[in-house]
Amino acid sequence: MKLPPLPATLLPFALLATTALAAPSTGSPFYGDAPDATHPWAVHDQNRPQPKRVEPGTYSTVAQPGKPPSDAIVLFDGTTNTLDKWESDPKPGEAATPTKWIVKDGALECVPKSGYIRTKEQFADCQLHVEWAAPANVQGDSQGRGNSGIFLMGLAEVQVLDNYNNPTYADGFAGSVYGINPPFANALRAPGEFQVYDIVFRRPIVKDGKVIDPGHLTVLCNGVLLQDATPLEGPGGHMKRSIPVAFPEKGPLKLQDHGNPVRFRNIWYRPLPPRAVEGGTDGVLTAEATTAKRKAIAAELRADAAKRSGTAQMLRLAESLTYEKDSATATKVDSLAAAYVAGLKALTGVPLEAKKGEALSVQRAFAYLTKFEVVAAPYAPKTALDAVVKAQGWDLPKK
Ligand code: MG
Repeated sequence: MKLPPLPATLLPFALLATTALAAPSTGSPFYGDAPDATHPWAVHDQNRPQPKRVEPGTYSTVAQPGKPPSDAIVLFDGTTNTLDKWESDPKPGEAATPTKWIVKDGALECVPKSGYIRTKEQFADCQLHVEWAAPANVQGDSQGRGNSGIFLMGLAEVQVLDNYNNPTYADGFAGSVYGINPPFANALRAPGEFQVYDIVFRRPIVKDGKVIDPGHLTVLCNGVLLQDATPLEGPGGHMKRSIPVAFPEKGPLKLQDHGNPVRFRNIWYRPLPPRAVEGGTDGVLTAEATTAKRKAIAAELRADAAKRSGTAQMLRLAESLTYEKDSATATKVDSLAAAYVAGLKALTGVPLEAKKGEALSVQRAFAYLTKFEVVAAPYAPKTALDAVVKAQGWDLPKK
């Protein structure tokens, strides 16, 4: 974690003190509600890491695939080179062989009866992008028309089927979580045209036979939402009610050979960050994970405080106490705070007036620390500082 510098002038605090509702543009400590039992960060916490930069890709058109975002892992880009990332999906105990599916006109085409294919790479939670086209030459009906499937971790199937003008059972429709949940809508283009699937997959997490998180599938087809974090009931399947089971840590992506020459293009994924239950640090964490994260943030702030002196050091140490109480740090803050107010009180006239902005920012920090019970009220340095501010008329509105 990289800590932002404390502003040398502490100007944002001064502005806040005089215009109570104005938010500083870059955030500041002692501002939003403090960390609590399940939130390691304050509201608007300026120590929270910035999101990583990703260069966006481009959207696909019916005629042409778009470009993946900069951090995507490309599984098929229309060339035979990326076919090397795939292999046959062998029966248990047998070795994988090169896939017999073919690359034609920039698309990966299923060769009927050649079998499923799978990625050599294994992964789990992801944002997955797949484009597919059912044969333009319409043959068969129901589950027999343009059938394939996208198997996340080789287990949970998002159905690929030509349902353009072709009813079938709802939980086997294009965009269904097969055997588990029908899609909200039928947003398919005509057979022969490419359909764009965007999928967000979270694998089930089962520990000691207990379902910690059932796992979820979110699916969009041509920009239309079909599944909204649909809970998985295990992998799903044909005819049988599936039950929640533990998924492995990772698995390959599989594409189904259901006897139809369905074509695929522009296949890529982005791994997702771990969920809170997996030790991730976003969202609402467990109390244990929150405590651990708050401790780590406090340690960084204290290390940063050691490089500073005077008021900046006092504020940084005080900030660390909002994440983790620590008696040695609290004692140091108390003595620095007492020394700060004593120093202020020793000044008069122009030198004292020059300290106005800083004093108001420190006052704000003290008010925050008592409000969130980081220090016990009444807090002697706060009482003394409030008296100075009042005597100087710094708390009065500007004329
Ligand atoms: Mg299928």
